[in-house]
Amino acid sequence: MEPVRAVKGMNDVLPAESVQWQRVEAAFRRTAALYGFREVRTPLVEATRLFVRAVGEGTDIVDKEMYSFKHHDEELTLRPEGTAGAARAYVEHKVHALEPVTRWYYLGPMFRAEKPQRGRYRQFSQAGAEVFGDPGPGCDAEMIDMLVTFLKSIGVPDIEVLVNSIGSGETRARYRELLRAHLEGKVVSEDSQRRLEQNPLRILDSKDPRDQAACEGAPSILDALGDEDRKHFDDFRRLLDTLGVAYRVEPKLVRGLDYYTRTLFEIKGAKQKLGAGDTLLGGGRYDAMVEELGGPSVPALGFAAGIDRLLIAGEPSGAEPAVDAFIAPLGDVAVGHALALARELRTRGVAVEADTRGGSLKSLLRRANALGARLVLILGEGELARGVVALKDLAGHAQEEVPRDRAAAIAADRLAASGAVRKEEP
Ligand code: ATP
Ligand code: MG
Repeated sequence: MEPVRAVKGMNDVLPAESVQWQRVEAAFRRTAALYGFREVRTPLVEATRLFVRAVGEGTDIVDKEMYSFKHHDEELTLRPEGTAGAARAYVEHKVHALEPVTRWYYLGPMFRAEKPQRGRYRQFSQAGAEVFGDPGPGCDAEMIDMLVTFLKSIGVPDIEVLVNSIGSGETRARYRELLRAHLEGKVVSEDSQRRLEQNPLRILDSKDPRDQAACEGAPSILDALGDEDRKHFDDFRRLLDTLGVAYRVEPKLVRGLDYYTRTLFEIKGAKQKLGAGDTLLGGGRYDAMVEELGGPSVPALGFAAGIDRLLIAGEPSGAEPAVDAFIAPLGDVAVGHALALARELRTRGVAVEADTRGGSLKSLLRRANALGARLVLILGEGELARGVVALKDLAGHAQEEVPRDRAAAIAADRLAASGAVRKEEP
C-alpha cells in the first residue's frame, strides 16, 4: 500500500520539537495568569455563520480560507481564529451578567486553507486573549505591555510594536469616502475592486503591489478621527509612554476583521529569521462584536499570536533529558522488581524508564545514555539475592551498592542534589 501522509500544510510535532512548543505555551500561560487572564476552551468546530458574522465577508478568512463542510443539515467550519468562538461563548453563557470585566485567554489549533510556506500553515496554533467589558484605553495599553513582556520572556529579538486607531463607525464612514476618492481612477487588484465597494479600508492592508502603489499618499485615517476617538487614541499612547513601551504609529494598519473599532496593533519581531512574514501577532478593539452576536453592548479587546511563528522567532531552549533515571534488570526474574522500583521512584517525582525488553548490561547502559538518564539502577541476580541495588552515576562514573528498600529514596536525593529533578508542571 502507498504510505499515508499527513495532509499538506498540517504538520506533525515530534517530541524533539514539542519541548519547544511546551516552553512557549507555558510561558504564555504564565504571563496570561500574571495579568489575571483565565483559560477558556471553545470547540474546534462552530456554525459557519458565526465566522461570516464575526470575521465578516470580504475578509481573506471568510472569502477563501475556511474549511467549511455540511454535516446532515448543519453548515460547519473548522475554526480559523479564536475570537469569534470566545465572543459566542461569552454571549451564550451570559457572562456579562456574572462579572463586569472578563479576561480570557486561549491556546490551540486554528485552520485556514492557505498556501503553505515558512511560518504559514493550514493547521497552525494561536495563543490569544480577550477582555470583555472594558472600553479602555488602560487595558489596551496593558495588553501591549503584557505581550512585549511575553515575547521578551521567550527571547524574541527586534520587537516592533505598531499601533493605530480606526475610530468608531462614524469615523470609518467618513474615512471610507476619503479613501474611495483617493483611489478613484487608480489601478487596484481584482480583490480590491470588490473591496472598493464593500470595505475600501481593507485595500490598505493588501499585499498586492498594485494596491500598495494605489494607496501611496492616501489620506491618513488618524486625520478623520472624531474627538472621542482621538482622545481614546491619545490616552492609549500616553499610557504606553508611561509604561515605557516603545511603539510606532502606523496609520495604514487596518487588519482584516469587520468589527474592529478604535485601537489596532500588530507586533513584529525576529525579522532575520522570519523575513517578510514577521508579524507575530495582531489585535485590537472590537466594541461592536458582542452586540452583533446577539449579546448586550459590551466593549471588547483582544489579540491572537501565531505560536508557529513564535517558535521560529524565539530562542530555542536546550534539549531536556527524557528521563532522570533508568532501571536495568538483568534476567526475567528481575523485571518485576524493576517495575516496582520504577513506580517507587516516580512517586518521588523521578522520571524513569525501566527496561522490559531484556538485553546485555552494555546495551542497557547505551539506552540509558541515549535517554539522558543521570542514574542507572542495576538489578542483577546477585543484587536481588543480597537485597541491594547497584546505583551507577553516569555523570560521575561512580558506582555503589545501596539497600533495596532505601534505593528509591537515595536515588531521589542524589538527583535532587545534582539539580536533575523533574520540574513541577506549570
Ligand atoms: P497574515 O497577514 O500573515 O495572513 P493575518 O492577518 O491573517 O496574518 P491574524 O488572523 O491576525 O493574521 O492572526 C494572528 C496571527 O496568527 C498572525 O500574526 C500570525 O502570527 C498567525 N497566523 C495567521 N495565519 C497563520 C497561518 N496560516 N499559519 C501560521 N500562523 C498564522
Ligand atoms: Mg492571513
